[in-house]
Amino acid sequence: MSITKVTQHPTQNEGLIFERSQTGRVGYRLPKLDVEAANMDEIIPSELRRGDGLADVPEVSEVDVIRHFTRISTWNYSIDLGMYPLGSCTMKYNSRLNEKVARIGGYTNLHPLAPEEETQGALELMYRLQEDLAEITGLPGVSLQPAAGAQGEMTGVMLIRAFLDKRDGEASKDRRVMLIPESAHGTNPASAALAGFTVKAIRANEDGLTDMDHLRELCAEGGVAGLMLTNPNTVGIFETNIKEICETIHNAGGLVYMDGANMNALVGVARPGDMGVDVIHLNLHKTFSTPHGGGGPGCGPCCCTAELAEFLPVPRIEKTGERYHLNYDLPHSIGRVKAFFGNFGMMIRALSYIYTHGAEGLREATETAVLNARYVAAKLKDTYHMPFEADCMHEGIFSHKHQTASGVHTLDIAKRLIDYGFHPPTIYFPLVVEGAMLIEPTESVGRADLDAFVDAMKHVDREARETPELVLGAPHSTRIGRLDEATAARKPVLRWKPDMGSNAASA
Ligand SMILES: *Cc1c(COP(=O)(O)O)cnc(C)c1O
Repeated sequence: MSITKVTQHPTQNEGLIFERSQTGRVGYRLPKLDVEAANMDEIIPSELRRGDGLADVPEVSEVDVIRHFTRISTWNYSIDLGMYPLGSCTMKYNSRLNEKVARIGGYTNLHPLAPEEETQGALELMYRLQEDLAEITGLPGVSLQPAAGAQGEMTGVMLIRAFLDKRDGEASKDRRVMLIPESAHGTNPASAALAGFTVKAIRANEDGLTDMDHLRELCAEGGVAGLMLTNPNTVGIFETNIKEICETIHNAGGLVYMDGANMNALVGVARPGDMGVDVIHLNLHKTFSTPHGGGGPGCGPCCCTAELAEFLPVPRIEKTGERYHLNYDLPHSIGRVKAFFGNFGMMIRALSYIYTHGAEGLREATETAVLNARYVAAKLKDTYHMPFEADCMHEGIFSHKHQTASGVHTLDIAKRLIDYGFHPPTIYFPLVVEGAMLIEPTESVGRADLDAFVDAMKHVDREARETPELVLGAPHSTRIGRLDEATAARKPVLRWKPDMGSNAASA
């Protein structure tokens, strides 16, 4: 299948910008100097100047630069190009309108240290977003400060810690166990550890749900500070016992933290606060419009009960009459968790997303996200092994169990999907399912695209049985085929050096 590649032909393989360099070539022309040249020694002391004459900077023309980067940009897969079925990530297409609103000059030109009287609009925007997130989660205390889901988690478990310290005083130190399901996202135990808790893992039952007997057993052992639970959980199933789970933890004297990264399955339909959850984080960069491909800035608001609100980070935005102001004077606050007020651009997108949808639109988005995932699950259930029987919520989990007999594993299936024009789903997460494929189509994919994806998955299954070598060697349509991923992760080549030769940095 693989085609012989012409190393430096632009449509086959673009050289590095360094390889395009020609000594003396420039992208500009300045008028001849008509004053005396300054003596650099008098302006910048020699020890502060670099001496290598910028030796390694590529010397290229303007058109070289423009075409090089434009060509490279066409190699990217993006949300504008097709669906991105990454489970647990909620990679949906979001309206351009939200981007446009985030670029309004009055917001982008605002300095974070501008005085309150000149920033009333921005403060009102944050205040209104907090009110809406409180309504969506059913939890009235909100801080927009955390810069990511993981930081929202850390903030949330620090609230729990502060609450227990205040409630129990000295005795609080005997309450340091955080219960976390074994399927949890790795950030959960990390956040718990950062806040000074030790982690005990809760088993799941064969339906993929929290094992209630094990939960009660762990509670009976004592010292339970709380529980961190994702709902729908990381195998895409709604924890139907959530009220009982919360009661069990509360009766044991602990608090319930919900990882809200999967809120795309709940917004407008069900509220964690009504289920008995005490504190939750949201990922504005998953559920509320900010695109997060490439690890750009995020926002992980932390929402909590009225009881926990006094511990939220400072400053708090407050409203007196028609005026908004920042209150730094909160004695029980855990303090600041992020410079200034967090990543403001994400907040603008989120509010724009909420306002353009309205309550009904948000509910419809949620219902469509669940419908799309169930559609994919129903279409693939006879082809790919589904480890759990329950109807999935916004993402469905599969495994490679039916394909391994011919030597094909999850990684191979994911790589072969690339040849069909799809970004692979999340693979090998969660760890509780061997060879997991976590597929989240989101609400932004239409029927035709869902069918094309299902069709590709079925083709790959047929190939796995009839021509496994085709799947094992995939991808065949990309410029660079199957990588040695372990070496790429362990020994990444991140810098080009003159003696590396052609395309060395990407090999
Ligand atoms: C994405 C995710 C997180 C972490 O969010 P970040 O913004 O990447 O820090 C936590 N839990 C779950 C279940 C997630 O999917």
